[in-house]
Amino acid sequence: MKLILVGAPGAGKGTQAEKLIEKLGIPSISTGNILREHLKKGTELGEKARGFMESGALVPDDLIVDMLKARLSEPDCKEGYILDGYPRTVRQAEALKEMGAGIDRVVSIETDDESIIRRISGRRLCKNCGASYNLLFNKPEKDGVCSKCGSPLIQRDDDREETVRARLEVFHRQTEPVKAYYEKEGILLRVDGTGDIPDVTKKIFDALGLSE
Ligand code: AMP
Repeated sequence: MKLILVGAPGAGKGTQAEKLIEKLGIPSISTGNILREHLKKGTELGEKARGFMESGALVPDDLIVDMLKARLSEPDCKEGYILDGYPRTVRQAEALKEMGAGIDRVVSIETDDESIIRRISGRRLCKNCGASYNLLFNKPEKDGVCSKCGSPLIQRDDDREETVRARLEVFHRQTEPVKAYYEKEGILLRVDGTGDIPDVTKKIFDALGLSE
């Protein structure tokens, strides 16, 4: 199964990808997480991407497409994968098609901007393993500490309100057309993403015909 999760920043793509990993046993590939690794390591790609990411803009398509191509050629992607945060432009969707990916379904997690801004202010991320939490509805067992690996939790620099507003604007202008692209292909599923986590998981599983 090859799936794409599309949604605004903070719509719950990463969280729902984790549920799908458990169910389907295929890896989730987050281009945002891969880029953050590059930033941390100070690679050439990381340095090229830094300014775009800090301002909430998209990293240029050619950099992202090459990075994704390399990741999809790794052996763990043979049986399928879940893409979280890719494609974010129609050009990226076209590039995926040119790679011969053969995507089965695209799940759009639909939200409204004001609830996103509220949610993102509570978002925390594990510095070490990338696990995500939310102080509003998905708290870690111990304050400030990852329940999975025990490392400290941080707030992403680009989760500050003014950057979130910029990222939402980018989402509407550059990523919404990706939904139309897949609607035309007949593989887009729209799911209401405004409920709590188990609710949204159920809606996604139902839409995909999976049992919980
Ligand atoms: P995310 O963790 O998916 O919200 O991504 C964080 C940031 O990484 C975005 O605001 C972009 O600057 C960059 N990014 C991640 N994925 C992509 C992509 N597919 N295309 C362009 N930029 C991306």
